[in-house]
Amino acid sequence: MSRVYNFSAGPAVLPEEVLREAAEEMMDYKGSGMSVMEMSHRSKVYDGIIKEAEADLRELMDIPDNYKVLFLQGGASQQFAMIPMNLMKNKKAAYIVTGQWAKKAFQEAQNYGEAVKVASSEDETFSYIPDCSDLDIPEDADYVYICENNTIYGTKYKTLPNTKGHTLVADVSSCFLSEPVDVSKYGIIYGGVQKNIGPAGVVIVIIREDLITEDTLPGTPTMLKYKTHADADSLYNTPPAYGIYICGKVFKWLKKMGGLSAMKERNEEKAKILYDFLDGSKMFKGTVRKEDRSLMNVPFVTGDKELDAKFVKEAEAAGFVNLKGHRTVGGMRASIYNAMPKEGVEKLVAFMKKFEEEN
Ligand SMILES: *Cc1c(COP(=O)(O)O)cnc(C)c1O
Repeated sequence: MSRVYNFSAGPAVLPEEVLREAAEEMMDYKGSGMSVMEMSHRSKVYDGIIKEAEADLRELMDIPDNYKVLFLQGGASQQFAMIPMNLMKNKKAAYIVTGQWAKKAFQEAQNYGEAVKVASSEDETFSYIPDCSDLDIPEDADYVYICENNTIYGTKYKTLPNTKGHTLVADVSSCFLSEPVDVSKYGIIYGGVQKNIGPAGVVIVIIREDLITEDTLPGTPTMLKYKTHADADSLYNTPPAYGIYICGKVFKWLKKMGGLSAMKERNEEKAKILYDFLDGSKMFKGTVRKEDRSLMNVPFVTGDKELDAKFVKEAEAAGFVNLKGHRTVGGMRASIYNAMPKEGVEKLVAFMKKFEEEN
């Protein structure tokens, strides 16, 4: 068996310990005689798995009691529609467009009401986070929407926008559980888990209870109402059962690692190794405004497309895979999520140094 250093933006690297445990339990989950994949989601055993996953997530994020935790399907992209369908009571919402994912959410919301773009960083290819301290937010906006960590461009909000009393909704797909957050500042925090938590197929939605109502837009399908899933504790229909089980294992791993404060420290240390190198390099350059840099996704370029391609190819041969930048940006991107060990980043930097010397 040989494992590579996987810098994929998602689906992405998972803790080896979690993968090994899952392998051990594959044929016989704790004496049940079957795999979690083969188990009824209504069984007592599975009920234990999903309840424990939720309890561990609540503990990790210190989620207040007036928030529900939902394990849903449809990826982060389904939330782009589900959010306006459930929250747009006044048929108006404010969107801050800081990248492709925020833009997609903004465009989707236009199908359901008036989505107002209150700030954007598209003028400089999303390489920064706009000043959100005093935005012109419509009085009757139902919520303010952000993508907190921009996976493709490698920017992250260091302070949350001043929503002027409006509900904040955040897509945290690529920074989920990377550092502590104050859940009470948000109406909804959600993310697809395939970036920083588990296998694709699960999206976690943490939602304040008062936002869960019967009063959704006309025609909202049962499956797309938060209330449906909240009332059934995420077991309205068959949930992505195996994926949730793996997420639960990752929550346990995070607790063992010391929780989110410890992860933050670790992630800062890892990112610093890479950013310090980029700042000193004559060949490689970071593409993002320094104060807005993400701890999770680190895009960089050489400025020469052929050299970029050569780097990606040689890196792959050396065991550093998925470093090619997003198709809309080019260059390179190293995603260094929770499960990427510090050693992986150190070795990547050593490889980049060597490449720089030789080219
Ligand atoms: C990957 C990603 C998405 C899309 O996720 P899907 O689960 O594929 O729909 C949305 N938002 C962000 C921030 C992402 O990184």
